[in-house]
Amino acid sequence: MKLYPLFADLSQRAVLVLGGGAVAERKVAALLAAQALVTVNAPALSPRLRRWADQGLIAYRPQAFQPDWLDAVWLLVAATSDQAMNREVAAAAMRRRIFANVVDDAALSSFHVPAVVDRSPLTIAISSGGAAPMLARLLRERLETALDESLGALATLAAKLRKRIRLRFPEMAGRRGFYEHLFAGPVATLLRQGRPNAAWAAAEQALASMPIAGSGSVVLVGAGPGDPGLLTLRALRALNEADVVLHDRLVSAGVLELARRDAQRIEVGKQAGHHHTTQDGIHALLLAHARAGKRVVRLKGGDSFVFGRGGEELECLRRHGIAYEVVPGITAAVACAAYAGVPLTHREHAQSVRFVTAHCRSSLDTLDWAALAQERQTLAVYMGVAELGTLQARLIAHGRAATTPFALIENGTRAEQRVVTGTLAKLADGALEHAVCSPALLILGEVAALASSLAWFGEPPLTATVESASAPLACRPSNDAVKAPRTLLAAIHQA
Ligand code: SAH
Repeated sequence: MKLYPLFADLSQRAVLVLGGGAVAERKVAALLAAQALVTVNAPALSPRLRRWADQGLIAYRPQAFQPDWLDAVWLLVAATSDQAMNREVAAAAMRRRIFANVVDDAALSSFHVPAVVDRSPLTIAISSGGAAPMLARLLRERLETALDESLGALATLAAKLRKRIRLRFPEMAGRRGFYEHLFAGPVATLLRQGRPNAAWAAAEQALASMPIAGSGSVVLVGAGPGDPGLLTLRALRALNEADVVLHDRLVSAGVLELARRDAQRIEVGKQAGHHHTTQDGIHALLLAHARAGKRVVRLKGGDSFVFGRGGEELECLRRHGIAYEVVPGITAAVACAAYAGVPLTHREHAQSVRFVTAHCRSSLDTLDWAALAQERQTLAVYMGVAELGTLQARLIAHGRAATTPFALIENGTRAEQRVVTGTLAKLADGALEHAVCSPALLILGEVAALASSLAWFGEPPLTATVESASAPLACRPSNDAVKAPRTLLAAIHQA
């Protein structure tokens, strides 16, 4: 059940509650706190409800429920243990388009009452859509302990200053800077310490002295390989504060979802066949948004400094005097190794690891093949799917054993992760056999053999069975073709 969350203003609005027991009592208490005009309908009342009725806080109707009462109310809460009765009133409410909550019956309810963390005027409401109320309650308990009581006072203080803040900081960027200072700086601390007067003085002082214009900046953030759980806390914070997110195509949807809801998201993917932005275009976008006072997050797959052109972008920002920060991300080699159960180094198998890119033929020509072919080291090859044939042939030609194990990890850390394992002699054809697509990372070296015993994430590794030890196909699909859908690759394979 997908629910639409809303906070209702029930002040001075009539609400009918059915039932006179302990559950009804709790519901009535919450409704009274929201200043609703509550009528309770039940054959008898609990002592507390009775007292409230006597005090005139609620109205009481002992007679049998009559559907036309609903014409006068905004909401209905049914808190009786009588199933037939609950069904009848829910149906009556439905006919009149009145929202009804039947306690502990998600199916009969047209609105749900969330678990609430109350830091008035700040309210946090949690719902599991009826699926797992215990989970919602558990979350509420966690939030209760995590959120200081003084948050309410902080929200009140902000509300009282709001007009003046708006006047003093007409631009959004400057205003946001002030609010951040208010919520995360000394004012919040003083309120937590129970010193409201000092907090007010600090807020007044900040209002008088903080610079009016916010200045733009860029945070270069490594988004990791896909699983949002692999983001750093700093990355999450930068995403929360971003006005603009310039992201690569490789950044997963799960990570993008964590950006501030109203942040502008701009894809600057560089994928052939799709709309793409040149590196100069990306530089221009970074500069334009930062100069407009925006907080820009430049979000890249993995780590920005590992085959990510992060260096070029920083050089550009530095040349133009734009402030920047860098938040590292988990690079594909490290992440894929972890999620495939392949330790990149191992005392018995490999003392070093190299990160290599096999982007295209010309980049392959510049590699030191003799060094790459050495034993007891691990190669982590990025962007190599299209060049596996060349890689295989050259490594073998330079002396790497054809029996060297490999693990090829496609969509590492994502739900669709696949791992293909085999030996170097079967690398290129193994990839075709299983139609491996980009993004995929190759781990080659003695350690790759451990994937078969240490794998823990996703499906067990697939095995490469096709061998063309002597002459791997000279002509592989181009880089672009490899990025095409799997069906195309399968077709190439069959051809
Ligand atoms: N800066 C990135 C690398 C960008 S180059 C990083 O640090 O990870 C792009 C290459 O990274 C892809 O061609 C692929 O080889 C690798 N890659 C990125 N994400 C991957 C993933 N989830 N699974 C497998 N390989 C991945």
